[in-house]
Amino acid sequence: MPGFYETTVQQFQKAAQAVKLQDDVRAILSEPKSVIQISFPVRLDNGTLRLFQGYRIQHNNILGPYKGGIRYHPQVSLDEVKALAALMTWKCALAGLPLGGAKGGVQIDPAKHSRDELMRITRRFTHALGTNIGVQYDIPAPDMGTNGQTMNWIMDTYMNSVGYATRNEHRGVVTGKTISCGGSEGREKATGQGLVYLIEEWAKEKKVDLKETRYALQGFGNVGSWTAMLLDRLGARCVAVMDHKGAIASADGLAVDALVQHVKATGSVAGFTGGKPVKEDDFWSADAEICVPAALENQITARVAGLLKAKLVAEGANGPTTPEADEALRQRGIEIHPDILANSGGVIVSYFEWTQNLNNEHWDLEEIDTKLRKRILRSHRAARDAAERHKTDLRTACYGVALERLQAAYNERGIFP
Ligand code: NAD
Repeated sequence: MPGFYETTVQQFQKAAQAVKLQDDVRAILSEPKSVIQISFPVRLDNGTLRLFQGYRIQHNNILGPYKGGIRYHPQVSLDEVKALAALMTWKCALAGLPLGGAKGGVQIDPAKHSRDELMRITRRFTHALGTNIGVQYDIPAPDMGTNGQTMNWIMDTYMNSVGYATRNEHRGVVTGKTISCGGSEGREKATGQGLVYLIEEWAKEKKVDLKETRYALQGFGNVGSWTAMLLDRLGARCVAVMDHKGAIASADGLAVDALVQHVKATGSVAGFTGGKPVKEDDFWSADAEICVPAALENQITARVAGLLKAKLVAEGANGPTTPEADEALRQRGIEIHPDILANSGGVIVSYFEWTQNLNNEHWDLEEIDTKLRKRILRSHRAARDAAERHKTDLRTACYGVALERLQAAYNERGIFP
């Protein structure tokens, strides 16, 4: 199987072809602008010292400061972070945000570290990144394995490294912070909320009653659990959930709130008594109209695509569908809400958080949700128009909208000198 970066490059080339992207713009966008790889030492609780590998890939900033999450996961690699950084460039451009694309990561299993160790790892990584991040330069956010607490530590470390009198101007150096530390209302649920706004729209169009709709969910972290809680409020039934430790199912529907409590207490959906344990293939072939991958990349392979019974795959995760699976799903008439559209709610509300920080404002949840819904539906419409215009699929069209916007900026600015 090709690596994750290679598949995102393939998808980029396909879209570049579809929208007839100029060769010079294609060349610029085919590589990240900078690749930062850092080894940094941290003392563990038992007194030993360990060297960690951290990455920050800054893919493109023609539209605005670099923007993208920081991932803590044992699988983090240069290839993965490069792919995720490029996806952020397309995602921000598609959402019409004045932001570029970046991604970072540390190769660790956060579940194997104490809170104190995670704090020291985060602070030392931030210190090592130094001026490679900044409120008008590169703005990290949460991703797999990181959360509001991680962002608070980054912000605090960074703010302590700048001049005392100007410290508060730097609060927006990261987004996804907790509310007490300058975070935004609605940021924690934003990715799931954006995904659910698109699902509601899909249901309206297909004349499907969400109360009669079942869904299967891979990943029950930030994106997965919020998607479940929000779909639960709309009456949809969660019939299967899988995470890194196992899968559970119930044809009658899993009690989402109880499952959230179980995961909080145990760290996984495994062992939840409100459903029965099932094998991985049974999870993928669950009787459900909607499938939401919200864990890692490359999960829906061509084989898995053959097992799905869903009519819609709504990609909460980044890159969850391999190119072969993408083709297989299309041939089976299964609709896809592609990642750079479907999970863009996170970066959209991150943008709102950054704007609030820059202006010393705090918006209420209603305002955030209204603005998020408007923006994500607008991106959807733009992508559909492009799909029609270029006679292509929605994923390629999403990339196409982003590439055309990036190309316009290059053409209007020119290449220095
Ligand atoms: P998270 O760390 O909060 O949760 C990750 C979930 O994935 C957990 O339930 C974990 O058990 C599960 N998981 C990990 N490895 C797995 C495996 N091998 N098989 C099955 N399940 C596995 O992460 P998150 O923030 O919810 O991110 C999930 C996905 O959504 C990632 O692809 C991320 O890039 C993407 N995403 C996140 C955000 C955000 O705002 N957090 C925004 C856009 C996209």
